[in-house]
Amino acid sequence: MSSRYARHELMPGWNQQQLANAKVIIFGMGALGNEVARILAMSGIGSLLLCDPDWIEESNLSRTVLFRQSDIGNFKVEAAATALRELNPTLAVETRSLPLIHGVGLGEIRDVDLVISCLDSRSARLQLTGRCKLVQTPYIDGGTHSWGGEVRPYLDPDDPCYGCSLTPEERSIADVPWSCLDTRPEDSVGSAVPSSALVGTWMGIIAIRFLMNLTCPAGTLRIDSSRGTTVVIPQVRDSECPLHTSIDFVSKISVSSQETMQKLRSLLPKSAVPLVWEPVQKLVECSHCNFQEILWGLPSINLCPQCQQPLRPRTTIELDEVPDLVKLADLGIPPREILTVKTMKGWQWFELE
Ligand SMILES: [Zn+2]
Ligand SMILES: [Zn+2]
Repeated sequence: MSSRYARHELMPGWNQQQLANAKVIIFGMGALGNEVARILAMSGIGSLLLCDPDWIEESNLSRTVLFRQSDIGNFKVEAAATALRELNPTLAVETRSLPLIHGVGLGEIRDVDLVISCLDSRSARLQLTGRCKLVQTPYIDGGTHSWGGEVRPYLDPDDPCYGCSLTPEERSIADVPWSCLDTRPEDSVGSAVPSSALVGTWMGIIAIRFLMNLTCPAGTLRIDSSRGTTVVIPQVRDSECPLHTSIDFVSKISVSSQETMQKLRSLLPKSAVPLVWEPVQKLVECSHCNFQEILWGLPSINLCPQCQQPLRPRTTIELDEVPDLVKLADLGIPPREILTVKTMKGWQWFELE
């Protein structure tokens, strides 16, 4: 009887056990995420965490190998997890149907072997780069063009990052606090399954090699199917790039993201102020009639009950005024998040568990 992985073992350097022990997070379950997840699952990766807030639409079906007609309307991560378990029943898959900053905590990112970025906007890529850098986790970013795409491996934490390849103006879009402007969808660009399969396969093969400690390319791979070329472009570290800070010493506290602000407060030093990484809404106000209401949570768009104009959310990153009974998850805090806390002794980091 031959085992599922019999042909793998014939490849020089292949280490099935190392893959079985590996944990990987994939952010983005669109066309690229589908391809990489399929490759990792079939290769025998032990554990995958999938994060994507979107539902499946009919226009996804021409490019996504894991989704079926009957999946339309379901969360991408759920349909993908079901398909991946069928492809490989030994795979452990977990899902988060939330934006990346609310879906996966920094403690979780720190504890995996590799992060795969299949995101479709520059601001999301920058946000993920910053989070991987904070906890020094290697990651591979990919993106498609019409007839090819790019793969950017950032496997050594001291190497250049995605932010290094951008100008300060391009990087600054990630610093704009949450506003309703950010919910505008990016302009759609043309894409077809050959390009996402091509780029996703490159990402998958580099991921597999990295997880088995085999050599990996250090630069950006630019793949152009019209010329039949894949060119490696060296990455250069930009000394002005602000994304290279990391968190040093983290204290663990026994509170989950499903518990309340009261529990968090009881475990932090006296008069400490916990901060979130992305602004949360503290109140909504009307600029027409001066209506105002305290409303803690993720920024939301509501109409003024007095004059029906859109209310403006006012946001903060400081949680000291949050009422005791508000749940941390309702402020967008993901499981095992590491929070920055302002204390009498200076900045400290606390990890939820
Ligand atoms: Zn950088
Ligand atoms: Zn009003």
